[in-house]
Amino acid sequence: MSSLTLSVVTPMYNEREAVDHFVARLRPVLDGLGVTYEVVAVDDGSADATVARLLQLRADWPQLRIVSLRRNAGHQAALAAGLRSAHGDYVVSIDADLQDPPETIGEMLAVAREQGVEVVYGVRNDRSTDTVFKRRTAGVYYWTMRRLVGPWVSDQAGDFRLMSRTVVDVLNGLPEQRPVYRLVVPSLGFSSAEVTYVRAERVAGETKYPLSKMIKLTLDSVTSFSATPLRIATWLGLLSFLLCLALIVSGLVAWGLGAVVPGWTSLYIAVLLLGGVQLICLGLLGEYIGRIYAALQNRPQYLIAMDTADEETTEAVELAGRR
Ligand code: UDP
Ligand code: MG
Repeated sequence: MSSLTLSVVTPMYNEREAVDHFVARLRPVLDGLGVTYEVVAVDDGSADATVARLLQLRADWPQLRIVSLRRNAGHQAALAAGLRSAHGDYVVSIDADLQDPPETIGEMLAVAREQGVEVVYGVRNDRSTDTVFKRRTAGVYYWTMRRLVGPWVSDQAGDFRLMSRTVVDVLNGLPEQRPVYRLVVPSLGFSSAEVTYVRAERVAGETKYPLSKMIKLTLDSVTSFSATPLRIATWLGLLSFLLCLALIVSGLVAWGLGAVVPGWTSLYIAVLLLGGVQLICLGLLGEYIGRIYAALQNRPQYLIAMDTADEETTEAVELAGRR
């Protein structure tokens, strides 16, 4: 269908400091592969000069394509925009901060072609360059996801992977609002292989994943794959009910024995405990209802302001920039 063999999709959010390093290392790798390619740099509503710099770099690297989102829509949404824009027979997603080594892309492509698999995961076998906090939280995330989502979720497989056109078309056709790709891709069950790599340190700038975004990703991951938390709410309710039954019996016995006046502490504890359990269960319900609500509204996850593959929008943006 297309004449492009490879698309490299890279979400970028305020990566002005990393973008030169990224391009300098990525370009020789891709040029050396001997295949036709495009690089789809998805600007996720950066507030710094990321886009301006990308437009400059594009002047002598025509394969560099820039897709700019109207506002910061988040890493997974930026990935979605990139996957929908990419034209290649194979699509690789990679971070802009060089934590995923571009050299591995060649290996991924070779594995996909030789073994005829649809997906090649990049698996980090060493995260010693990440902070202890990052490793711990990532450890908890993958542990929970393996239990809630299924054993096919590879430990330590982030968003550095190669996918065939077939897989990308399936992903693009999913009606899901906010797919968490690192969980959705393995759940589809396409044939796959892994290549391991050492996770490097971020080349420049700071992490764009503060704790709040990590929590959001975790909530999206859990609710989009599992109703187990709702079941936990049911069990909590059942447990409290049984406890209450026992307490009612003991209350009646105490009343029968005439020892009912001092009871403030037990009442106080019971009310607090039950209130807490109820609020937790309500919150759990709310998480799911919020997602049903968002799905009903069906607003776009992101809007594309500019795509350099589309002459008109690019001209408009360049004109606006000149004014
Ligand atoms: N990113 C993005 N939008 C966001 C946050 C991050 O497009 O809202 C991009 C970021 O530019 C990078 C990738 O997602 O290319 C991974 O982010 P980062 O390296 O900051 O995460 P970490 O490696 O610290 O988990
Ligand atoms: Mg990073």
